[in-house]
Amino acid sequence: MIREKIVINGIVQGVGFRPFVYRLANELALCGYISNNSDGVIIEIEGEKTKLELFHKRLKSSPPPLSRITQYSINEIPIIKDSEFLIKKSSHNTTPKTFISPDIATCEDCLHELFDSNDRRYLYPFINCTNCGPRYTIVKGIPYDRPLTSMSSFPLCSDCQREYDDPLNRRFHAQPNACAVCGPQLTLHNGSDTISSYNPINNIISFLLNGKIVAVKGIGGFHLAVDPHNRNAIEKLRERKGRAEKPFALMAKDLQTIQKFCYVSEKEIELLQNYKRPIVLLQKKRNGTLPESIAPNNQYLGFMLAYSPIHHLLLQDRYDCLVMTSANVSEEPIAIDNQEAINRLSEVADFFLLHNRDILQRCDDSIVRVSADLPQIIRRSRGFVPLPNFINKIITHGVLAVGGELKNSIALSREDSVFLSQYIGDLDNPKAYSFFENSILHFSKILEIKPKYIAYDMHPEYLSTKWAKKQNLPSVAVQHHHAHMVSVMAENNFYNQTIGIILDGTGYGSDGTIWGGEVLIGNTSGFERFSSLKQVPLPGGTAAVKEPWRMALSYLYSVYGKDIPNKLPFVKSLDKNKADIVYQMIDKKINCPLTSSCGRLFDAVSALLNIKQEINYEAQAAIELEAAANIALNSSALSVHPIEPTSSVIDTSSLIKTIVEMILLSKPLSEIALYFHYQLAEYFVASAIAARDKYCLQTVALSGGVFQNKIFFEYIYKRLQSENFTVLIHKELPTNDGGLALGQIIIADATLSEQKKEV
Ligand code: ZN
Ligand code: ZN
Ligand code: FE
Repeated sequence: MIREKIVINGIVQGVGFRPFVYRLANELALCGYISNNSDGVIIEIEGEKTKLELFHKRLKSSPPPLSRITQYSINEIPIIKDSEFLIKKSSHNTTPKTFISPDIATCEDCLHELFDSNDRRYLYPFINCTNCGPRYTIVKGIPYDRPLTSMSSFPLCSDCQREYDDPLNRRFHAQPNACAVCGPQLTLHNGSDTISSYNPINNIISFLLNGKIVAVKGIGGFHLAVDPHNRNAIEKLRERKGRAEKPFALMAKDLQTIQKFCYVSEKEIELLQNYKRPIVLLQKKRNGTLPESIAPNNQYLGFMLAYSPIHHLLLQDRYDCLVMTSANVSEEPIAIDNQEAINRLSEVADFFLLHNRDILQRCDDSIVRVSADLPQIIRRSRGFVPLPNFINKIITHGVLAVGGELKNSIALSREDSVFLSQYIGDLDNPKAYSFFENSILHFSKILEIKPKYIAYDMHPEYLSTKWAKKQNLPSVAVQHHHAHMVSVMAENNFYNQTIGIILDGTGYGSDGTIWGGEVLIGNTSGFERFSSLKQVPLPGGTAAVKEPWRMALSYLYSVYGKDIPNKLPFVKSLDKNKADIVYQMIDKKINCPLTSSCGRLFDAVSALLNIKQEINYEAQAAIELEAAANIALNSSALSVHPIEPTSSVIDTSSLIKTIVEMILLSKPLSEIALYFHYQLAEYFVASAIAARDKYCLQTVALSGGVFQNKIFFEYIYKRLQSENFTVLIHKELPTNDGGLALGQIIIADATLSEQKKEV
């Protein structure tokens, strides 16, 4: 007989860990107790030595599905001679190591009960259990227990309490446990008054059938729902939301529905059905019957499966799918509070499906896709947050990284874990900015991390930078593309010198110009700019981002000077006066900052091909260029030629010339678009080879928003591998600025460590 004390860290709270251990201990006739505290899970267990060994083996090899054990320590202690195994109340002390579970889609067991007319939770819209339901979005603080969630205002009825107390029940210690007697309820609202309703779900369905726009309160915020087959309703939603062309997401009842409209691979099925239930970008079927206006000029539809009981009820009979787009106006953050939603959306939604379980943390739907047969995360929010990234390195300094400006996400470090917040958005928007400030407070609170240092982007005008400089903490400025590079390195636990191909729209360079088409050599403590795209003027600064025709003109002018080929349809279509102004701006260097941006090169080519002259959502020109290229994807006529490795500036003049010639020869648009993707990739492959030759490096890290372009990413990824490079890519974080904060933390830590050494 022996007694042991086991301390387990990792994702072990709110994931059914205690009942699992309770059942295991009982099964093996072991005595002792388990308790949750801020250190993790503490188990004291006594019994025969062989049984204890079996206990460890089973707990480590098959823990509850949502848990993740990061540390497991065992110490032998004196025997007490307990007579049973107990689950003790949570205690709270000051050195926290635990993690809070993300929100989990309704499980099969609960779904079954939801539609079982004999079950006491038949059609109850808030059914959940230990294996499913809201988590992160209802948490106020830790330890994760009901009093510290938004369920604290719903005292359990005796039936729910019995389930909650019974270690053998599926709802044992399920903090959001509830039923129609004691739990949250739905209400119906028309924007000015509550409408009394016996069955709000049925009302909502009939509103949708009548082409109405409905705001539906969900897990991490509100959605705006409309009938996906009703063109007028979609049109009305676009108008009221101020969203002319940006795609709307869809929510489907089941996989079969999605397969009617999209091609779905095995990998994509896995992503769709994962408990995280993200939006998955899927290739549209050409003969699909959904209106084009859901995602105009886009080769993908964003589909997710229903993930809360409310969704399952809405999609039960009449609809197999619905447009479910985040409830906001233009670029504001998604609404979460009832009154806030009514105030902000009364001009958009005709009706509101509300409930009284508060959403404490805003969390958008996550967006993923499959690229090069691997999952690629585009927006990391619900289902992922607040899971940490384990970086296989101890960050000695508690660091807060404040991220970038667009697609902002902040991060906090704790030893070998980095916690990235959910998607916050564009800080230029005042509501997003206050979400940013709140997220920093809330994240520090629930993770109990008090940062000692701040890492921020070098860009002096980023609002995150300005915020960082106002704090009374020492801080470190990090170059944007260096942060991208170290972020992807850290995700791969690779910290040696490496080549980085970092391609995005914009980032502040160490020389004060705008970078974005960079080949860097570096590690966590520094970098050298090995080569980059030749700089061109950005006529009008941000205006050039919104109006890609300016970039096309800038490129043509830099390649041909005054002899711009006038026969080009693009040139013919230009407003002569506007074009002249741009020429003059370039000549006189008025508001024409120089940029090596790769994103702007995609824009320029999109405009040059007359695909998109002006955009109304971020990266639209590049997205539509990719959609055009996609049509030619299987044609074999393309001849792409390798580029001579060179370590100097990457001059794409001959690429632009070839594209112009192809246009003048009336080659198919899609073929030219595809040629551009491949040929541009060759320039960067050549540069990576030059870097390898010079520095004997074998590893290339890819990061930056441009790699969201699937055709470009898949091509360059395979080409680099065929050149025998080890290629590091993002796996768990977005390749766009949403993943910056991880790199910022690691670089700041390296900088601080070096400063200490010098002292
Ligand atoms: Zn469940
Ligand atoms: Zn109840
Ligand atoms: Fe970037």
